[in-house]
Amino acid sequence: MHMFCYQCQETGEGKGCTHTGECGKSEEVANLQDLLIYALKGIGILNDALFNTGAAIDRKIGMFVCHALFTTVTNTNFDPDRLHGVIARALAIKREMRARQADLLKRHRDSSSTKDKALPEDEYVVWDSTDRAEIVKKAYAVGVLSTTNEDIRSLREMITYALKGMAAYTYHANILGYFDDAIVAFIYRALTAVSREHTLGELVTLALEAGRINIDAMALLDKANNETFGQSTVSKVPLGVREHPGILISGHDLKDIADLLTQTDGTGVDVYTHSEMIAAHYYPKLKKFSHLAGNYGNAWWNQEEDFVKFNGPIVVTSNCITPVHPSYAGRIFTTGPAAYPGVRHIQRDENERIDFSDVIALAKRLPPPTQIDAQTFTGGFGWRQLAEAAPKIIDLVRAGKIKRFVVMAGCDGRDRSRIYYHEVAERLPVDSIILTAGCAKYPFMTLSLGEIDGIPRIIDAGQCNDCYSLVKIALLLMEGFSAKSINDLPISFDISWYDQKAVAVLLSLLHLGVAGLRLGPTLPGFLSPKIRTMLVEKFALRPIGTSEADVKAMMAGR
Ligand code: SF4
Repeated sequence: MHMFCYQCQETGEGKGCTHTGECGKSEEVANLQDLLIYALKGIGILNDALFNTGAAIDRKIGMFVCHALFTTVTNTNFDPDRLHGVIARALAIKREMRARQADLLKRHRDSSSTKDKALPEDEYVVWDSTDRAEIVKKAYAVGVLSTTNEDIRSLREMITYALKGMAAYTYHANILGYFDDAIVAFIYRALTAVSREHTLGELVTLALEAGRINIDAMALLDKANNETFGQSTVSKVPLGVREHPGILISGHDLKDIADLLTQTDGTGVDVYTHSEMIAAHYYPKLKKFSHLAGNYGNAWWNQEEDFVKFNGPIVVTSNCITPVHPSYAGRIFTTGPAAYPGVRHIQRDENERIDFSDVIALAKRLPPPTQIDAQTFTGGFGWRQLAEAAPKIIDLVRAGKIKRFVVMAGCDGRDRSRIYYHEVAERLPVDSIILTAGCAKYPFMTLSLGEIDGIPRIIDAGQCNDCYSLVKIALLLMEGFSAKSINDLPISFDISWYDQKAVAVLLSLLHLGVAGLRLGPTLPGFLSPKIRTMLVEKFALRPIGTSEADVKAMMAGR
């Protein structure tokens, strides 16, 4: 076996990618990402030990760890050279900390303590190399399968994937200058825990704690986005095109689109969002730019087709980037954690700002986009908007005009069976409301499902970075109905998952006690039979069925 990865929904035959990733990831990249996680465990162990002596979190290291974890999220980084760079930095951090440990411990150790004379010497901490061949050799030896017990492996990996998701949220907040040291402290503690011997029960407890901390990470990002770019508001997003040249920007980094909008202002170049970036249209300080022309194309997995037709430059700021087709390879750029071999990566300067002048110059030489849609889409129902509408919504429920809320959030993907979500949206009766966020909405976002007394039947909170709004909405409804449990509300969860942010959100929902959640299009391949049974018994987690049967069951409260 050359590689082993089972972190996303597309994993080979539902069990694991073993030669090359279904996502396009090479075995070299898969193994380098495993080694990066191995090195990050070393950093986690060192910093967890230091934190336990009373040391403050070093934000520079914390931000690096979040960025590095994000680098291993599906469809983010396909570039072995950039991964070697991140691994080298991780190894350098360990080296520096170990060299300075006497000084670090002297300054932070509780003087009454006689322990903690030295930082830990786990294998993860000690391993080091600056030799590329040796690094590659090690990368092939520290993969997922090095945990031989499949149940322990299942839980360790589930926790690690949740850390990747929460690190992605935290990274985006960090870029905007927002930090929560408790989140980073948890990441260190969890990286330590998944590197050491623990029982299944202890790991389950840690997984649910990861779900809790992920809510804090989502809340931090929600605060960062809304304070930086203004409170998100309900907005109509054009899906058509204008006649000027344009730049298409994808991924989740709102700071990057803010920089791009500022730098393109008055240049005659329009800016379009793609897929994950659609949420930019909801923030006042971004949508005030008249040349933010609309959202172009479909969900991330359709990007090859969309990017060919766009004609102009494309900037991918984070996940998702898919294998780059030669027809647009000369006009695509990456920023942040995103990278692809042969694609130009634009670095941030010391103020975390990106200079897009080459991208803008290229746009001026290229034709405008080819139209592929002409409709509009309404989104941007953040929890603050819904809080204002909550009394009316509660009255509509009490009056029997709204019978059920169905949360269809998460991701979209290539799996053809995802047509299920389109069918569910079509089949749901007129007295039901769909709550959505993330690319999960793409299969049904242009359906005309109408309104219930002015409340749209599709309520879109934004992208997967806005899943916090869905959690808050559920909590608001609990308050409004004086419900003791989230399961007492007329809500069903019909979640569509793909990557590791979805794993983090799933654990957040389980932490909140959501029972009977449907997960599709397939259950995670990383769940061993025993762990899967455990989740089914404890949380009544279940796979999706047919759209017909599931709609019937959900409307009956099952
Ligand atoms: Fe396979 Fe998903 Fe891993 Fe890619 S990220 S290698 S598709 S399991």
